[in-house]
Amino acid sequence: MTLFDSPDFEGHEGVHTFFDEKTGLKSIIAIHSTARGPAAGGCRMWDYSSSEAALTDALRLSRGMSYKNAMADLEFGGGKAVILGDSRSQKTPALFEAFGRAVDSLNGQYWTAEDVGVSPSDLESTRKTTRYVAGLEGHAAASGDPSPVTAEGVFRGVRLCVEKALQRDLKGVRVAIQGVGHVGAYLAEKLHAAGAVLIIADVNQTALQEVAAKTGATIVPTDAIFDVEADVFAPCALGGAISAATLPRLKVKVIAGGANNQLADAMIGQTVFDRGILYAPDYVINGGGIINVAAEIRALEAGGSFDGAWVATKLDRLAQTLGEVIDQSITEQRPANLVADEIARARIAAARG
Ligand code: NAD
Repeated sequence: MTLFDSPDFEGHEGVHTFFDEKTGLKSIIAIHSTARGPAAGGCRMWDYSSSEAALTDALRLSRGMSYKNAMADLEFGGGKAVILGDSRSQKTPALFEAFGRAVDSLNGQYWTAEDVGVSPSDLESTRKTTRYVAGLEGHAAASGDPSPVTAEGVFRGVRLCVEKALQRDLKGVRVAIQGVGHVGAYLAEKLHAAGAVLIIADVNQTALQEVAAKTGATIVPTDAIFDVEADVFAPCALGGAISAATLPRLKVKVIAGGANNQLADAMIGQTVFDRGILYAPDYVINGGGIINVAAEIRALEAGGSFDGAWVATKLDRLAQTLGEVIDQSITEQRPANLVADEIARARIAAARG
């Protein structure tokens, strides 16, 4: 199979590979679209089983960022970088400086930030060799941890879905949260404050105890989260939570959470819809984090400071967009994930002209 035949290629504008002999850097930067503006998306460091697996990941993530940025109404296209290697043993400052040179060679077509396996301190090294990097701390434009903003967007999305599917507010609504890390923990606090009853699962016992102490949540074993009596399932851990194996076990009427790539495959979206479950497309409901990062890039470009009011306006707009997706899904009797994909593609095509 060649790159152009790959099912994940989907019209990428550019796929760039980088190798640096001195530091051992092997990196792929995939740019899906710059139609709406420079491509923005984080850098993932992962010990891929093959370079083909790394390429597939880069292509999927980069296309995902195009869609996410378009749905968050940001003037950014979509791109993503992957560094091939074990983030626990193969990180060096020189590697991330070499990565910065790779980013810089694209002359601002791509802005990087952190993702799985990459921390703000790694990006400090990247910053030495390129200015096209967001997610650093300690400067006026800095956006800080995006998780609270992501969680606020997800909270509003859950509330909206409950209103639309169950015609009620969050008081007494039972929400099962899978994963109470950064996003899940903030979400739990917000839902608790709104009167929701929480059931939580995580592989991290400390995180579970902390969230339970703050919110009165009931803790269940990780696999049992799919079987609990609940109105809402909120995936906030890793991708692929909704699969042919887990979906038949869910008793909920709404699936709305912060995790990326919640649907194990595109077909499962149809089954979710056929079961009468309202699904909030993941890359729409969790767009708060990229909105926060976008505010940093805007401030860096303008030489100004981080603008919290701009973020708040974009978050309001994001909730509106999610509502439009859900309404269209209900009116046209089609899965919300397909409706969202169509709107995202149309927004990108309109910008392309
Ligand atoms: P995190 O690593 O802080 O939290 C993930 C949590 O899931 C951890 O507590 C982990 O122990 C738990 N977990 C792992 N496997 C599990 C399992 N099988 N069952 C239950 N829990 C499990 O990550 P995060 O920043 O909170 O992100 C969570 C999800 O949201 C990810 O999919 C991420 O890509 C997505 N996301 C995050 C942001 C953000 O702003 N942080 C933005 C957009 C999307």
